[in-house]
Amino acid sequence: MPEGLEAEIWRSALESLVGRTITTVWIDERVADPGIAVVLPGAKVERIERTGKVIRVHTPDHALGLHFGMTGRVIVDGAAPIESLEYASDRDRPEWDRLRLHTAGAADSDTSALRVNDPRRLGHLSLDDDLDRLGIDIFRVDADLLATALVGRRAAIKTVLLDQGVVAGLGNLCADEVLWWAGVAPHRSVDELTEQQVGAIAAAITGRLPVMLASGGSTTGELDPARRHALGACPRDGAPLQRATIGGRTAVWCPQHQQ
Ligand SMILES: [Zn+2]
Repeated sequence: MPEGLEAEIWRSALESLVGRTITTVWIDERVADPGIAVVLPGAKVERIERTGKVIRVHTPDHALGLHFGMTGRVIVDGAAPIESLEYASDRDRPEWDRLRLHTAGAADSDTSALRVNDPRRLGHLSLDDDLDRLGIDIFRVDADLLATALVGRRAAIKTVLLDQGVVAGLGNLCADEVLWWAGVAPHRSVDELTEQQVGAIAAAITGRLPVMLASGGSTTGELDPARRHALGACPRDGAPLQRATIGGRTAVWCPQHQQ
C-alpha cells in the first residue's frame, strides 16, 4: 500500500507539471469532493507538496489533494514512477481511473499529465482541505518532536506510529521496519518506553527512511515483503521472525532483539 515514501516518489515525479496550465479534468465523482473538475481547468500548476501520505497539487486559488487507500498509484505523463506495490495490482485498467488531468504543454496531448488509477476505490480526491490533523511529517521527525507527540499515549507503539495524527507518512511496512531497527517490540505500550527507546525510534525514522526512499520505497527494507510473507529469519540475529495482529494490522518483528 502506498506509504509516505511512495507519496514522496510521486511528488517528485509530479514536479514536471509545475508551470503547466490545466486544460481538462475528469474525476470519478464517487471518490472526489465536488467542484474539482469545474474549478481546476484554466489554472496553472504552481507547486506540488506532500505531507505524510497526502500529495497536494496547488494552483493559485485551489489545492487538489490526492489521498491514497490500500491500493492506488499515480501515472505522470503516461509513465508510472513506481511500477508495482506489494498490494497493488500490476494491471492498469481504464475503469480503475479515478482522476485524469490534462495540461497544455505536455509532450503528448492525448496522454494525461496526471492519472490516478485505483482498483479498490478506497482513496479520496479532495479540494482545499486543510491538513492540520496530520502529525509530524516523516522527514521532519526528531527525538524531541517524537517524544512530545507520544506524551500521554498508552497504546502499543506500532499502533501509535500508524496514527497519522502522530507521525504522518508511516504505513505498515515502514512502521515495522523502524521498530526492527530501533529494537523495540511493536506491542510495547508507549508509556513503558524509555527515553533511549524513543530516541532509537526517531533515529530509525530519520536514518532509515531516506535510504529506503533512495532504494525505491516502503518495500525495500530489511523486513522486505518476501521475508515478511514467509516469516524468515531476522537479518540481524537469525531468530525466527514472529507475526501478530496489533491494532488491526499485521506486525512482523524479531522476539530476540526487539524488546
Ligand atoms: Zn533480531
